[in-house]
Amino acid sequence: MDTEADDCVFCNITQHKIPAKIYFENEELVVVQDILPKAPVHVLVISKEHVPSINDTTKAHEALLGRMILAGKQAATDRGVGESGYRLTFNVGREGGQIVPHIHLHVLGGKQLAE
Ligand code: AMP
Repeated sequence: MDTEADDCVFCNITQHKIPAKIYFENEELVVVQDILPKAPVHVLVISKEHVPSINDTTKAHEALLGRMILAGKQAATDRGVGESGYRLTFNVGREGGQIVPHIHLHVLGGKQLAE
């Protein structure tokens, strides 16, 4: 896997260099608890490959992105919000609210989410 960014917090999580509550892991992604949850369920699906943002993805990432969404669906089911509903969000760039420059999918649920 690409591990280019030593100072990237999400690379450090996927490489187990800093602690995180990991719910699921496979060869290409990890599902972790968000450290500052914005909903009763707030987990992140993080790619092991260091890609700064969705803007940096290409057709080569098509399968990875699909599997990140499926992992988000599974995480929502595992956390008990599969039926009540949830939100899957990629924040992209500054005005998109992206703080950590490493692709990750937010899974939010467990309450009525605002628009
Ligand atoms: P974004 O604004 O889309 O870049 O989202 C980054 C998310 O990562 C935020 O919801 C943060 O609370 C979360 N976050 C930042 N550092 C950590 C960490 N060390 N462990 C878990 N979640 C984190």
